[in-house]
Amino acid sequence: MTVLIDINANKKPRPRHPEKAHKPDTQVLRKPSWIRVKAPTSKGFAKTSKIVRDKGLVTVCQEAACPNIGECWEKAHATFMILGDTCTRACAFCNIKTGLPGPVNLDEVQHIADAVVEMGLKHVVITSVDRDDLQDGGADHFVNVIKAIRKSSPTTTIEILTPDFLRKDGAIETVIDAQPDVFNHNLETVPRLYLKIRPGARYFHSLRLLERVKERDPRQFTKSGLMVGLGETKQEVMQVMDDMRIAGIDFLTIGQYLQPTRKHAAVERFVTPDEFKAFETIARAKGFLMVSATPLTRSSYHADSDFAQLRTAREKKAQTQIQVKRTHA
Ligand code: SF4
Repeated sequence: MTVLIDINANKKPRPRHPEKAHKPDTQVLRKPSWIRVKAPTSKGFAKTSKIVRDKGLVTVCQEAACPNIGECWEKAHATFMILGDTCTRACAFCNIKTGLPGPVNLDEVQHIADAVVEMGLKHVVITSVDRDDLQDGGADHFVNVIKAIRKSSPTTTIEILTPDFLRKDGAIETVIDAQPDVFNHNLETVPRLYLKIRPGARYFHSLRLLERVKERDPRQFTKSGLMVGLGETKQEVMQVMDDMRIAGIDFLTIGQYLQPTRKHAAVERFVTPDEFKAFETIARAKGFLMVSATPLTRSSYHADSDFAQLRTAREKKAQTQIQVKRTHA
């Protein structure tokens, strides 16, 4: 039996996921060769760690135990997680600590802006825990972070990966109006598995959030991600792609679900690299501007270089449309 202990919380042992402590352990499948990653040992990794530590920042890279941390941090690509390290939801796939969060740390706004300058980031990804306890779900804090980064690093492009702001009237619009370059919100899985994997969320609400971004500010790129290996079928994934296209989503990411502990949802199977390639081909045919589908793809993986490609893809599409119009004029 696995007992999860967080040794940093007030120095008192506390289960990291109290709501999962009573659950029976699930069987863990052996990882295939294509999932293995190198241990993080580079100088760049150490430098990124120091900046994160010195500024007291929280990253999803660490909290979610992301397998790509060695590669990303070597290139100073860390995804900052705002609004604390404790989430008010308890998704079955997620390693973020759950419980009642503390007050919002307002100093975080400037610390993140300073870190972006110090790390020389051309593109930054900001995410957060779910804050169902706050009246605005943390929307104002997102806005303040975006504004602070714009002020100190005017050329840095900003990608946000937000919670769903369920039952937080006006929160989505507040964040859209801060004009991030990329508005990302992950659907995570197919609708049939929501109750099991993402019980506090609603599939059509999440989809609607992304559609709302396009309605209110079509210049913003929208992005969403799926995990596979949770028991979904290929047909269900294709249906989600269609739903996303109807909502106008530009960029789709698909990656393999990895089980953080034996108390989390089990990996049903490891999707092969060839199957990921097939997903990419299908998604491109359905009209996404960008698709990243590999076993280790995560929402923020290669987000900087992908953003550059996303912009190029939009420009090319616009030029093609102009040419088509001229041809038919
Ligand atoms: S993929 Fe994203 S979450 Fe994972 S290490 Fe890279 S930046 Fe962090």
